[in-house]
Amino acid sequence: TPARLVGPEQRDDDADASLRPLSLSDFTGQEAARANLKVFIEAAKTRGDALDHVLLVGPPGLGKTTLAQIVARELGVNFRSTSGPVIAKAGDLAALLTNLEPRDVLFIDEIHRLNPAVEEILYPAMEDFQLDLIIGEGPAARSVKIDLAKFTLVGATTRAGLLTTPLRDRFGIPVRLNFYTPEELELIVKRGARVLGIGVDASGAKEIARRSRGTPRIAGRLLRRVRDFAVVDGVGSITRKLADHALSLLEVDSIGLDVMDRRYLNLVAVNFGGGPVGIETIAAALSEPRDAIEDIIEPFLLQQGFLQRTPRGRLLTPHAFRHLGLAEPARPAA
Ligand code: ADP
Repeated sequence: TPARLVGPEQRDDDADASLRPLSLSDFTGQEAARANLKVFIEAAKTRGDALDHVLLVGPPGLGKTTLAQIVARELGVNFRSTSGPVIAKAGDLAALLTNLEPRDVLFIDEIHRLNPAVEEILYPAMEDFQLDLIIGEGPAARSVKIDLAKFTLVGATTRAGLLTTPLRDRFGIPVRLNFYTPEELELIVKRGARVLGIGVDASGAKEIARRSRGTPRIAGRLLRRVRDFAVVDGVGSITRKLADHALSLLEVDSIGLDVMDRRYLNLVAVNFGGGPVGIETIAAALSEPRDAIEDIIEPFLLQQGFLQRTPRGRLLTPHAFRHLGLAEPARPAA
């Protein structure tokens, strides 16, 4: 499956770094998360101590990496970054940890994907700032303890439930990120346009925002694509008309659904009378793997209230039929 224009995961052509806010005050939305972090950061700085470990939880593209970087910046410490699947062996993590300076931030993205042997090393490191390593094998094996600098681990995950309990329990500051409102995304689009050096009027920003699926990463990506149209057309500012024209050509509809979403919805609406229909049947009819449908297509449709998961299968809601412009079939009462 090719990376989608409206998918929340990072793509090769994303220039995320250039649009990243650098301070908490520059970070739009997520009021609760920001207020919390602000207090804890102030307190840690006043005490001259490392910040407690922070767990950032939320769907891809909502700003977890960005917030982790901001935390390090606001604390005035180094930022080191890695991700769960990248740390293959306990020794790889040990090398990272022994290189940290006091109060540094170590960011581990996708922390739910650490292998268990690596996770074991992390427990004493987080709790006592000590490494317990086994050197050698068999009868010659011995354990050594190494003191670490007192550091802050910032972990990121898409779902807290994916973490083991002992790992989750070692984070003093859990922070949940939610989808952004259209108003917040509008501010993010306006700020992005300033950074990219292109004008955008209020209705142009609104148009991009409402097609961005609650996700700043998608807003930034759509903004860059619309900007390209503006440049080619030789206009200095993004209007609603231009945004609508560009995004329609890119087949992103008025609420951010793309071709794949619409194929899914049309299939269930037309071929299966709105459902309920089993996921395996849908997967076969679309020639897509079941996992891809469950991970990539369905979450946004569920969140938008287009779809329900019932014990008898997937069921489209009246809202979905309205969006498709189709009449709802008469269904027998459940
Ligand atoms: P995650 O780590 O949750 O997948 P990122 O932190 O990588 O998400 O953010 C993805 C993109 O969205 C980046 O370009 C980032 O600058 C932008 N972004 C995220 N949150 C915000 C925000 N609150 N304000 C402005 N831009 C944001």
